[in-house]
Amino acid sequence: MADVIKSGNLDLLSGKVAVLGYGSQGHAHALNLADSGVDVAVGLRKGSSSWAAAEEAGLAVGTVAEVVQNAQLVAMLVPDGSQAALWREEVQPNVPADAALLFAHGFAIHYGLIEPPAGHDVIMVAPKGPGHIVRRLFEEGYGTPALVAVAQDASGNARELALAYATGIGAARAGIIETNFKNETETDLFGEQAVLCGGASQLVQLGFETLVEAGYPPELAYYECLHELKLIVDLIYEGGIERMHYSISDTAEYGSHSVGPKVIDDHVRENMRAVIKRIQDGEFAREWIAEMEKGAPSLVEARKKLADTEIEKVGKRLRALQNREVEEPRGVG
Ligand code: NAD
Ligand code: MG
Repeated sequence: MADVIKSGNLDLLSGKVAVLGYGSQGHAHALNLADSGVDVAVGLRKGSSSWAAAEEAGLAVGTVAEVVQNAQLVAMLVPDGSQAALWREEVQPNVPADAALLFAHGFAIHYGLIEPPAGHDVIMVAPKGPGHIVRRLFEEGYGTPALVAVAQDASGNARELALAYATGIGAARAGIIETNFKNETETDLFGEQAVLCGGASQLVQLGFETLVEAGYPPELAYYECLHELKLIVDLIYEGGIERMHYSISDTAEYGSHSVGPKVIDDHVRENMRAVIKRIQDGEFAREWIAEMEKGAPSLVEARKKLADTEIEKVGKRLRALQNREVEEPRGVG
């Protein structure tokens, strides 16, 4: 079992931390670090719509080229597909040769899109949650667990620096687990593809479509297969699968044990094995990099197709009736 670390030495972050990007992770890291007393500057493109938001939050903001100068640490929190170009064009020409480079996901380093010179510490602090949760839990006095890793230890102090950063964003309050870039990258991709995003979306959609096809009203199918999933997942999150089983009816529990494995059966296990193999041998990364180089046409097409599905249309209408404020959609990563 991996050790769980609950503290780091924030004093090691005595210099400026340049947070590049003010999206899901960027805004959370920048605000949490600033609240922890770290000197933070946010780096954005001129004309970025996030510029005003970061300034209004009380943060120093500049262009990427400006804020990486004199930085002790540069946090690369722009999308994985933009990191290599940003590194080449704006970070590397301006950053001190001994600044630490920090990533929240190992993709660009693990698959060799960025190869930092030997003078840089290359570290990772990957929160195991979306950025908005990283910020919200921090404000509530809690934290989001994070994985910490070192790909290059130029200073001899890279691990401690990563732990300091993890502490600054509040992860030490929840628990830090040490790993390496390979394991973080591969498990993260597998989780989002097979279980969390790809698997869960497909399960919800097929459930919805099966009920509608069998003649049930789409509103019922929506509540049953999508809305209630959150309530069930909350129970699993709080106390594991047993806790969820304890809370539901005996009928539901019996159905869960006896029918669940018939739905998610050994075919799915075989599919999952194929997913992790494509991640390990780099095939998924090559496909995604090629897709990004073309401007991500398949992704744009998939977004359009999804927006046109019945479950999304029914959901929009039903959620509007609940009068809930919904945050802008963001990735999980
Ligand atoms: P995002 O898409 O939410 O935000 C990206 C930000 O970068 C935006 O502010 C955008 O304006 C800015 N940006 C884009 N291109 C830029 C450029 N060329 N120059 C300057 N700014 C630019 O990104 P994100 O989801 O927060 O992902 C950031 C990193 O965090 C990725 O490595 C991702 O894998 C990782 N991560 C994300 C999550 C998550 O919940 N979203 C979770 C764990 C790890
Ligand atoms: Mg993830």
